[in-house]
Amino acid sequence: MTDEPKRAPSVGFISLGCPKALTDSELILTQLSAEGYQTSKTFQGADLVIVNTCGFIDDAVKESLDTIGEALAENGRVIVTGCLGAKSGDGGGNLVRELHPAVLAVTGPHATQEVMDAVHANLPKPHDPFIDLIPPAGIKLTPRHYAYLKISEGCNHRCTFCIIPSMRGDLVSRPIGDVLKEAKALFEGGVKELLVISQDTSAYGVDIKYRTGFWDGKPVRTRMLDLVAALGDIAEPYGAWVRLHYVYPYPSVDEVIPLMAQGRVLPYLDVPLQHSHPDVLRRMKRPASGEKNLERIARWREMCPELVIRSTFIAGFPGETEEEFEHLLDFVRVAGIDRAGCFAYSPVDGAAANELPGMLPEAEREARRSRFMEVAEAVSAERLRRRVGATMQVLVDSAPGLGRKGGVGRSYADAPEIDGVVRLLPPEKISKTMKVGEFTKARIVAAEGHDLVALPI
Ligand code: SF4
Repeated sequence: MTDEPKRAPSVGFISLGCPKALTDSELILTQLSAEGYQTSKTFQGADLVIVNTCGFIDDAVKESLDTIGEALAENGRVIVTGCLGAKSGDGGGNLVRELHPAVLAVTGPHATQEVMDAVHANLPKPHDPFIDLIPPAGIKLTPRHYAYLKISEGCNHRCTFCIIPSMRGDLVSRPIGDVLKEAKALFEGGVKELLVISQDTSAYGVDIKYRTGFWDGKPVRTRMLDLVAALGDIAEPYGAWVRLHYVYPYPSVDEVIPLMAQGRVLPYLDVPLQHSHPDVLRRMKRPASGEKNLERIARWREMCPELVIRSTFIAGFPGETEEEFEHLLDFVRVAGIDRAGCFAYSPVDGAAANELPGMLPEAEREARRSRFMEVAEAVSAERLRRRVGATMQVLVDSAPGLGRKGGVGRSYADAPEIDGVVRLLPPEKISKTMKVGEFTKARIVAAEGHDLVALPI
């Protein structure tokens, strides 16, 4: 009698939601693989399915609930994790359990260990983990050449339109030594662009009083400036980019701008401003709402003329007057916001802003969003046009056939998935090739919509 080769237990993994949810998914997938489970992105044929959910807006809740229902129907053995898992239902119990009582387990976000416990209870660990097969950087869901680095979880603010703190709790900063170690492993694993994310990157270390940690045998403080400087140093030998997201306009950010001017990290800041008028910002209870953002941005641009600013805004917040809205339009023009996104305000279940007086009709909120986007797109297009004629470094995201017929990439001014791209024309030189995850120099020949068109050189 011969021994049948044992099939490794397989886990289907569906990842929904924002980049923060994606990093949770990566941690769970890395752990599953480290323990010898096979993973796939579908639920057909899997022994068990994990659905990482999003609970931020109503559409995302619906998508998550539908996916859970589908996984139950097609597979039957489902573990739910993520933001939706932390939400209460109408009956006061857990929303997911109320609607889908057949799920095996439910956890909130950032719960790798709890998810693994549920997996162990329902699909016992294989005896022979293939730990050595795990790349040092873990399993990435993003293309290999860029990766998200989550530096903290939760948020100490209580913006009135947001329910993230009630789902994810107060700020918990990851130890700086761990963060830098992960960054180094990612660069070692071939990552060429590191995207720093959190709910509030400028608040990094506040919860642990900027405790001193260690990296490479040297003391380093858990705070944004030290983190950014260290990341710039670690990225340098790999020729890799470091891009900062979710930075609030606190005075302390002024100290980070010189690092951008020196080219140690990308001169790009994702600053979710949401509005410009002080009264609206107060009603929103926004962090740094008392700051003079226009002056601050002007000073940043003086220190670093290359600086690109991306931001998101809300139009039609409860009580927003026409005058307050026009203040916002002027702000976008004068600040020269390079990339802007805008949501028409929409009430989110459980958010304090629902109680504010002066809710605007939906048609008016939508109309203001359109008016905002018209102004923001004109500002953005004008700023993009200034780049025509310049030579820029472009990170190649797609280049079929070694890029001989052209490809698609991004410059320092474009974060993946949210900004525009650089459309690369077929190179003139026959010997010139391009590969995904490599940099190429390109001369910008046109600006079209949110994108640039460039000739690789
Ligand atoms: S800063 Fe405001 S919007 Fe952002 S996560 Fe915290 S409470 Fe929500």
